[in-house]
Amino acid sequence: MKVIQGIGSSRGIACGPVFPFRRADLVIETFENRDPAAEWKRLESALAAAREQLAQIYQKALRDTDKDQAEIFQFHTMITEDADLLARVKARLDERRTNVEPVFVEMCKGYAAELAAMDNDYFAARAIDVLDVANRVTRLLLGVAESPSAGLRVPSIITADDLTPSDTILIDKNLVLGFCVAKGSVTSHAAILARGLGLPSVDGAGDAVLDITAGTMIILDGYTGTVTVDPDESLVAASRERAGRMKQMHDAAREHAFEPAITIDGKRPHILANIGDRAGAKMAVDQGAEGCGLLRTEFLYMGRSTLPTEEEQFKAYKAILQEFGDRPVVLRTLDIGGDKNLPYLSTEEEENPFLGVRGLRLSLRRTDIFKPQLRAALRAGTGHNLKIMFPMVSDIDEVRRARRVLEECKDELTREGIPFAENVDVGIMVETPAAALCADSLAREVDFFSIGTNDLSQYTMAADRGNPAVASLCDAFHPAVLRLIRDVIEASHRVGKWTGVCGELAGEPLAVPLFLGMGLDEFSMAPVLVPVVKALIRKLDTREMKGLADEALKLSTVDEVRGLVKARVPSAGVLEG
Ligand code: PEP
Ligand code: MG
Repeated sequence: MKVIQGIGSSRGIACGPVFPFRRADLVIETFENRDPAAEWKRLESALAAAREQLAQIYQKALRDTDKDQAEIFQFHTMITEDADLLARVKARLDERRTNVEPVFVEMCKGYAAELAAMDNDYFAARAIDVLDVANRVTRLLLGVAESPSAGLRVPSIITADDLTPSDTILIDKNLVLGFCVAKGSVTSHAAILARGLGLPSVDGAGDAVLDITAGTMIILDGYTGTVTVDPDESLVAASRERAGRMKQMHDAAREHAFEPAITIDGKRPHILANIGDRAGAKMAVDQGAEGCGLLRTEFLYMGRSTLPTEEEQFKAYKAILQEFGDRPVVLRTLDIGGDKNLPYLSTEEEENPFLGVRGLRLSLRRTDIFKPQLRAALRAGTGHNLKIMFPMVSDIDEVRRARRVLEECKDELTREGIPFAENVDVGIMVETPAAALCADSLAREVDFFSIGTNDLSQYTMAADRGNPAVASLCDAFHPAVLRLIRDVIEASHRVGKWTGVCGELAGEPLAVPLFLGMGLDEFSMAPVLVPVVKALIRKLDTREMKGLADEALKLSTVDEVRGLVKARVPSAGVLEG
């Protein structure tokens, strides 16, 4: 039995065989003296089969993701029909008289290189698509299985070096028990997908996970970030029992998901969801979320090679807002920097990116990026309950400057005669100790606060949130973090404003009683957690929880805080997994 430590990036436990997801290298051999006409015919049927596959993938992507992502596969179909490319292949085939595989790959590589060299980001990015299509067609010519996950037949835990969106689209989610990724991080595509599907995942587990052979049993613990390889029978039985217990609780909570969460003493905090795209919005509504407390817009900017235009963003935001109807949606402006990078943005290398040009700091420097985003959001907000929120604030001047840019956008839209949402509430994320300590003055400048406990704990504890070696220090249950949270809530209430928490702590069962006691107005979490958190809140009395929070805030360690809540609120303890 071996235990590998990674970062728990999506809650839950899975126990099952490993399915290693590997991209196989295709071996292409050259055979001389072939009949060009016969080889051309082979290519034509491979192209037709590729088009069929792409049509299916397109439909699947439309169901699983959104139109913009799905359109990539329509573009792939266009490549299979590209007259210029095909004419080049035919001419070369006649000239070389070999089998078609090496010729097709050579021509596609040449075409991709021409695109990559173009002084146009859009075309340069299409080079990857040409190579992707070359790969698909060659696989068909060689009769190699369609996808590295094609052999997935029994429910398994997927191990991978890293997973791209197009990898994840192809995996049959009905056969996935969880994800275990060597590289990855909390914001990796696999982690986002896992949270969206309500499956456990562990990221950043290192190369050791790649050595686990296919079919080996593992226990994947998304709560603790551990991967137990070849567990003994008693451990398997214990985790199965634990997973079953958790599922029962989730299923029971689902039955009341659409009812409000009203405490025993009649208080009604709002329970919302954190999302990154339209699929997340659908899931949130389905789980009974009362809106979106955090739309992480940076995911719209990722997995592509150019900035999304104002129009693209408008469409994406509108689609998400429509899913929520008149429920509130808090759109957070771009939070790039730290561990979230856009390879196509040529920003300067930083020694401490988490302390560098991140979030609002970048937006204020790059109004060419900030303004199209704000304009798209304002335009999409008409007829909906949109709120705009700025991330990574440390100083009041940043908020004032951001608000001025927002006003400029409104003036521009007015001048251009373009309709937009005029009365949009504006808030900030409180995720730096500076913002928390100056909450009094910041509260007068904004309509609301949303506390980002993921960052607030890393900045307060000076411990990188993505580094497993300091994970025990970067714990939001630390009294230092909890005291800041209590002060922020109180500061907002003194001037009639409200505070939410949208960091992972909002969905932590042991934190919910403390937040209720502190008078938190809004909880926002991964969609799948909404029903259980609502169910827990219904069992609590805020007057009692106030006493509990006061006691917890006097304690000195994380363990003491957790221990106190577990002892006093057993219904929260059992949800801990
Ligand atoms: C946070 O910091 O708690 C937060 C919600 O923002 P993100 O995780 O996207 O940094
Ligand atoms: Mg944050």
